[in-house]
Amino acid sequence: MFDIVIRNGRIVDGSGNPWFIADIGIKNGKIEKISRLKLRDADRVIDAEKCIVSPGFIDMHSHSDFSPLINPYMESKVRQGVTTEVVGNCGFSAAPLNDFLKEEILKTTPMLREARVNLDWFSMEEYRERVEKNGVSLNIAPLVGHGNIRGLVLQYEKRKPTEEEMEKMKQILAQAMKEGAFGMSTGLIYPPSCYADTQEIVELCKVVAEFGGLYASHIRGEQDQLLDAVKEAIEIGEKAGVPVEISHHKAAGRKNWGKVRESLRIIENARFKGVEVTCDVYPYTAGSFGLASLLPPYAHEGGVERLVERLKNFEFRQKLREDMEKGVEGWHSMFEILGWENIVIAYCKGHPEYEGRNISEIAESENLDPFDFVFDLIVEEYASASVILFSMSEDDVRKVLESPFSMVGSDSSARATYGVLSSGKPHPRAYGTFPRVLGKYVREEKVLTLQNAIRKMTSFPAQKLGLKDRGLIKEGMWADITIFDPNKIVDKATFANPHQYPEGIEYVIVNGKIVVEKGEHTKELPGKVLRRPA
Ligand SMILES: [Zn+2]
Repeated sequence: MFDIVIRNGRIVDGSGNPWFIADIGIKNGKIEKISRLKLRDADRVIDAEKCIVSPGFIDMHSHSDFSPLINPYMESKVRQGVTTEVVGNCGFSAAPLNDFLKEEILKTTPMLREARVNLDWFSMEEYRERVEKNGVSLNIAPLVGHGNIRGLVLQYEKRKPTEEEMEKMKQILAQAMKEGAFGMSTGLIYPPSCYADTQEIVELCKVVAEFGGLYASHIRGEQDQLLDAVKEAIEIGEKAGVPVEISHHKAAGRKNWGKVRESLRIIENARFKGVEVTCDVYPYTAGSFGLASLLPPYAHEGGVERLVERLKNFEFRQKLREDMEKGVEGWHSMFEILGWENIVIAYCKGHPEYEGRNISEIAESENLDPFDFVFDLIVEEYASASVILFSMSEDDVRKVLESPFSMVGSDSSARATYGVLSSGKPHPRAYGTFPRVLGKYVREEKVLTLQNAIRKMTSFPAQKLGLKDRGLIKEGMWADITIFDPNKIVDKATFANPHQYPEGIEYVIVNGKIVVEKGEHTKELPGKVLRRPA
C-alpha cells in the first residue's frame, strides 16, 4: 500500500511541538498516513529507532542558483538534511538574464566555465525547465534578484532610472513573479543593486506585493550603519505592504558587536506596529563574499571589464586606497573595520596556494603592499576570487539564533567533495550550517531546544515563503523528510578543511524519494523548481 514506511522514529513535526512516536506512510510523493499503530504493506521500511524524524530542512538563504547545472546532486546541502533551497538571494538570481548579464556572470565565475555550463535561458520559466530537465536532488524556490532587474535595464550604471526605465523594471519583475518567483531580493552592498535608492525598491516591492511575494534583503550595511539599514528594510516593507526577510542578520566589526540586541528590538517594534519582518542567520562568526566587494560601489560602475581597466590606473588605486581606509558617504569599508589580517582568501583559481591564508600574511610573504596585492589579484582573476571575513561575535550569533524572529539560512551554494564544486576553501557553512545548529547550539550549548531549532529550519521558512504543503510532518504534505541521530549529528567542515560532509544524517527523502540513505547519496533526482503558491 505505501511506497515507504518510516517506523519507530521520534517525530518532531516542525510546528515547535516536542517529539511524538508514530509510523509515517508515504505514497506517491506525499505523507499519506501518520499513525500510532504499526503501518504495514510497504515496499520499503525505514527503521528510525533512536532517530529524530523531521520535515526536510528549508535553506532560507542559499546561493545554489547555478549549482544544479554543475552537479545536480546538491551534495553538501542534501547531506545536511536540506530538501528545499531558496535561491536568488542578495540581489543575484539565475533568471531573468540577458546577454550582458550572462557575460558578466561567465567572466566572474570560473566554475561555470570549467563545468561548461551553457547559460541557454533568459526567463525564470526557461530556467525552471533547464534545471528540471537536467535533474536536481532537492527542491529549488527561486527569488528574483533586484540586481538582475536593474542590470537588464540599466546595466551597471550608477544613477536613478528614468520613469520609462522604472516601468520596464516593473514589467520584468512582474513577469518573473508570474513565472513563479517567490519574491525579490536586494544586495544593497553589491553592484548594481547598491545603486538603487529606497524609493526605487519601494516601487518595485509594490509589484512584489501584488503577487503575494516577499522581499529578502541583504541590507545596505551590517557594520556602523546596521541599525539604519534595518530601518530602511522595514520602511520598504511598510510602504510597499510586503513581508520583509532580513538576510544573514549580523553585526560586523568589533566596535559594532552587541548591536544585534538593538536591531532585534527594532524588528520587534516594527512587528508590534504590524510590519511583517523576520530574519535569517547562519551559525558562524565569519562571513564571505567576493574579493572585489571590498571596493567601494563606484569602482564597479559599468561592470567588471571597466573595473579591471580602472584598476590598472595608479591615481584610481590611490583614491580607492584612501576610500577603503576611511569609507565614503553611504558606504563603509570592510577593510577599515577588520584589517587585512581578518580577511582570508577562500577561492583563487590562479593561485590556489593563497587559499586559507589572510591577506596581510600573503602580501608580506610576496613583499607587496596589501592594497596593491588585492588590486592586482582582482585584475588577474577578473574579480572571481572570494574571501572569508572574520567579523562577528559568538554572543551576537547566539542572540540572533535565539530570537523568535529568526530562521536558518546557509548563505552558501551547494558544494561537493569531488569535481568542479570541490575547488577552493569555501566557507564551511556550505557543508555544516544545519548540523552545526543541531549539534553545537542544540545538543552541546542548549541555546535552542530541538523542536525550536527544527521549527526555524522547516515550518517557519515554509510559512514565510507561503509554502502550504511543505515544512511540516502532516498528512497530505509532500514527503520531504530528514532522519537524523540527535546524539551524533555534527558538522565536520572547518575553515581550514571545509570540504567535509556532516555526520549523523541517516536518511533524507525529497518528494517521497530517498536521496540520502545511511549517510550516502543515492543519486536520485526527485527535486523540482517550485512555484510561489497562489
Ligand atoms: Zn548577502
